Amino acid sequence: MVVVLLGAPGSGKGTQAKNLIQRLGIPQLSTGDMLRAAVNSVSDVGKQAAEYLQRGALVPDSLVLSLIEERLGGQDCKDGFILDGFPRNIAQADALEALLTRLGKKISHVLAIDVDEKELIQRLSGRRICKKCGTGFHVAYQPPQVAGKCDQCGGDLYQRSDDNENVISERLKVYRAQTAPLLDYYRHRNVLREMRGVGSPGDITDRIMQVLKA
Ligand code: ADP
Ligand code: ZN
Repeated sequence: MVVVLLGAPGSGKGTQAKNLIQRLGIPQLSTGDMLRAAVNSVSDVGKQAAEYLQRGALVPDSLVLSLIEERLGGQDCKDGFILDGFPRNIAQADALEALLTRLGKKISHVLAIDVDEKELIQRLSGRRICKKCGTGFHVAYQPPQVAGKCDQCGGDLYQRSDDNENVISERLKVYRAQTAPLLDYYRHRNVLREMRGVGSPGDITDRIMQVLKA
């Protein structure tokens, strides 16, 4: 099964992808996570990607595609995967289609998660992430038991450097201009499944599972 999670920054794609790994037994491929790992390890790709991430702009397609291509051929992806944060524009969607055809696969579902912009901004600006295990928290909606520490593993929490007001507004602008057109792209291909992304993360995962089974 090939599942694409589509949604604005802060819509909960990453959270849902992580829940779906368990339920579907296939891996999550997050281009955002891959790019941040590349930046942290100061690899060639990381050096080229860093300034785009800092600004909230899209990293050039060629870089993102090289990361994706490397992963999709992997043994753990042979029964399918969950794409989170990719594709993010029409050119990437076209490239994905070509890649999947080569692998003898096709997209099963594109899940579009819809959240109002005001809510997106509140979620992103209060988001905190565990350095050690990646668990997400929110200073108001989902505060950790001990301030600044992860409930799961005790690791330190940090704020992503692109979760500040200016970069958030740029990321939302990029989403509207470049990624939102993918809704029509996939609607025309009859794989688009739309849902509201408000409510508890567990309830939303249940809703997604219903849609996937339908
Ligand atoms: P969010 O969806 O909350 O913005 P991500 O972790 O998915 O978070 O993405 C963070 C940043 O990584 C983006 O602002 C962009 O710079 C880069 N990025 C992630 N995925 C892609 C992609 N498919 N194409 C280009 N850039 C990407
Ligand atoms: Zn942790």
